[in-house]
Amino acid sequence: METIMEKKDIKSLYLTELEEAVRSLGDKPFRAKQIYQWLHEKLVTDFDEMSNLSRELRGKLKEHFYLTALEPVDVKISQIDGTRKYLFRLADGNVIESVWMQYHHGNSVCISSQVGCRMGCRFCASTLDGLARNLTAAEMLDQIYRIQSLTNERVSNIVIMGSGEPMDNYDNVIRFLHMISDDHGLHISQRNITVSTCGIVPGIRKLAEEDLQITLALSLHAPNDAVRKTLMPIANRYALADVLDACRYYFEKTGRRLTFEYSLVSKVNDNLGEARALAALLKGMHGHVNLIPVNPIKERDYVQSGQKAIQDFKNYLEKNGINVTVRREMGRDINGACGQLRKSFLEEEGKEVEEV
Ligand code: SAH
Repeated sequence: METIMEKKDIKSLYLTELEEAVRSLGDKPFRAKQIYQWLHEKLVTDFDEMSNLSRELRGKLKEHFYLTALEPVDVKISQIDGTRKYLFRLADGNVIESVWMQYHHGNSVCISSQVGCRMGCRFCASTLDGLARNLTAAEMLDQIYRIQSLTNERVSNIVIMGSGEPMDNYDNVIRFLHMISDDHGLHISQRNITVSTCGIVPGIRKLAEEDLQITLALSLHAPNDAVRKTLMPIANRYALADVLDACRYYFEKTGRRLTFEYSLVSKVNDNLGEARALAALLKGMHGHVNLIPVNPIKERDYVQSGQKAIQDFKNYLEKNGINVTVRREMGRDINGACGQLRKSFLEEEGKEVEEV
């Protein structure tokens, strides 16, 4: 009887695992280093590009492994600041989006960690159709690899702030973080990597134990549980006091200052009473607040706070000793909140199918 062997995802393997795999194929472990270099430094998309391997070894690799390579299907380029939004197709037909932004300190990529999301935040487009599936480590890596190849520019910063909740795909995200910062790969400094979470307490505590130097960003969005529950269903599961305790623990363990994201929604969380409560809540915490004027999505009727409300909110926090920045809107002309490019692509595709 013929046994059907399932192929393994070669790009998601750590170097040590690849060495083991190469040894079990009867080859020398140093070949694994060469393969790893092709995958994670030279960023090839096909086994046949690995020109220092014998044809025989390439054949064996193809038999036992598949090689994840995202297919770019769309890109929107901002005429204002050069920001690029990429839409990639995965091997199973799902699509995800990633954003490339140029800053004076280098190029930053915002990657997705899941196809869709099941957290249900009320203002977010990524979660409207729920979660399709987790991304593998290779699919997270390849968002950066493809973008670096397409732009021909080095990526120096990464934010895991695209679609998905990183703590809901914990093991693959950890694997990704190790591989992207590995000196056998792109070797991006962990200090230049930010993971953003809606506030899953056990995930934050576990991350604190990983001995990583990454920045943790907490999506706060409200100074109390009552308002937070109206915006984020996860607030029904974890009380704000416990989320902030987990953040304090993260700082104690890692010494890394936190980022608190606060999306300003008109008449929902942007009055001065809320600024006062926020200042009191964060007093003595090591970190800063990043105010994000909410990016309205057509499926909900949330409205962005006005310029004056944003400035007043910011000034109040500043006067009360809280470090605060207002997120600069990148790529305003190719606007669309997180997950909107993917969503509109799927809607267009749906229309085409209906028309047939
Ligand atoms: N699941 C992670 C990453 C999500 S996206 C998290 O919740 O942190 C990164 C940030 O963008 C989060 O703070 C998220 O709440 C915020 N966000 C999502 N949609 C937004 C919108 N339409 N306007 C403003 N901020 C938004």
